[in-house]
Amino acid sequence: MLALVTGAAKGIGRAITLELARNGFDVAINYNHSAESAESLCVEARTLGVQAETFRADVSIHDEAARMFAEARASLGTVSVLVNNAGITRDTLLMRMKPEDWQAVLNTNLTSCFYCTQIAIKDMAKARYGRIINIASVVGLIGNAGQCNYSASKAGIIGFTKSVAREYAGRGITANAIAPGFIDTGMTDILKPEVKEAILRTIPVGRIGSPQEVAKAAAFFAREDSSYITGQVLAVDGGMTMV
Ligand code: NAP
Repeated sequence: MLALVTGAAKGIGRAITLELARNGFDVAINYNHSAESAESLCVEARTLGVQAETFRADVSIHDEAARMFAEARASLGTVSVLVNNAGITRDTLLMRMKPEDWQAVLNTNLTSCFYCTQIAIKDMAKARYGRIINIASVVGLIGNAGQCNYSASKAGIIGFTKSVAREYAGRGITANAIAPGFIDTGMTDILKPEVKEAILRTIPVGRIGSPQEVAKAAAFFAREDSSYITGQVLAVDGGMTMV
């Protein structure tokens, strides 16, 4: 069974790709700029005994996403598991946010999910089987000052996931979202120490999460035995958003 992970070269996407490979999935590794990391990931995945290939595409551009799926299909077969993981931040306060900061984040984080899901789901519907896993964020649930664009994109992913889940529930396709909290990757590395300290104080388990902890949840949704779970949002956040 083939899994395609967008933005797979680094951080959470990399951990998910390796966890899926450990679970026996062949992996199609999407990257945009990080060619070297994608290649090293590909080599590592193959050592786990599965097929792996890399595919460069900016998934916020429809034609590039479509080309990537066509290439993956030609070399590895049809995609049964899609992980929409590619994401960026352009943090700033609402009053300072430029239209291009808004648009870049919405295009990369949310519109890419629409493009990739719409393309991938054709083969899944034919096969009457599929798993869509969308990486949202806790800020899509609770918001965050300085992240109007990012939180809107992540809340959009949650609504999108639930609608896809309802549309395709009768065809053996599940769609679920994961809402990571504060995870140790390049995305959070750039935060100032005082910002990190402030976030840490809001996490009941008292520490930052690892990409592997998110990957375990993604692998569960990717497996056949999660078949009765769809349209859900699983927070992997050390208790940050518990009610
Ligand atoms: P990261 O280390 O910065 O990785 C982001 C990945 O997204 C990179 O591999 C990058 O690929 C890829 N990407 C960005 N724009 C792309 C595009 N247009 N086309 C294809 N790939 C693109 O960040 P991360 O923390 O692992 O984030 C992964 C996901 O988790 C994101 O959706 C993020 O919003 C979400 N998330 C992260 C946290 C956290 O605390 N880290 C919390 C909640 C949610 P290239 O390097 O190849 O360009």
